[in-house]
Amino acid sequence: MVKPKMKKSEIRERLAIEANRKRKELGIDRTPDFDIVKALINYKKFTIVIAPLGPNTSGICYKNEHVIVVNMNQTLGRARFTIAHELYHYFYGKKGTDYISPTSYNPSKSIEEYEADIFASYFLAPRDDFFQFIFEEIRKSTKFKLVDILKIEQHFMMSRKSTLIRLKDDGFIGDYEFSMYENGAIMQAKTNGYQDSLYRQWCAEPTTLGYYLNATKSLYEQNLISKSKHDELLIEAFRTDIVFKENGVIND
Ligand SMILES: [Zn+2]
Repeated sequence: MVKPKMKKSEIRERLAIEANRKRKELGIDRTPDFDIVKALINYKKFTIVIAPLGPNTSGICYKNEHVIVVNMNQTLGRARFTIAHELYHYFYGKKGTDYISPTSYNPSKSIEEYEADIFASYFLAPRDDFFQFIFEEIRKSTKFKLVDILKIEQHFMMSRKSTLIRLKDDGFIGDYEFSMYENGAIMQAKTNGYQDSLYRQWCAEPTTLGYYLNATKSLYEQNLISKSKHDELLIEAFRTDIVFKENGVIND
């Protein structure tokens, strides 16, 4: 007998609940613009690598190693989405499997890629918070205007595309609004008084954050690795700034 396929609405319902559960597990409160990298690093022995991955890959999840690699050539909004997407593979993917996630929103991609996108959207903007924000701040009776889209994406720190997909999936906008607002986010944000950092490249230089740094430091302090090995490990992780004690701080 053919197993009946799960409806998209059922998948979304399940993932909205799972995303909330995971947010709680990671200690993320209802702050909409939470620091996703810090949340992961504080949660477990996560290492986040920010590196150039080429135009077709948004992120990689090495489950066993607790490593998430994010393509640095992404906007801040998209990078947050990518990390949340990779988190889905980390928590729910097959044991022992590494995941390479494609950049494009292709509806024909695997069910796990689809689910990871839905999870990421709910992880960044929990279902109840999203509805509450729209009903309280934007009012449901009006048609969505550009200022509304900006307000939502700035509040939840989501990319323009993932904001529009979410609004469309939740029935707030249709194809017409989707294509009308799809492009031009940077100038639209600027002319409406917002900073444009959400739509700009997240990191200009590759780097590594999280557990890898603690582990390298600890191995060296316990004399388990030499100074040159310690430096080599850091250089491999794009952390020449630590090896050569570069200090870019003006005043802090
Ligand atoms: Zn993926």
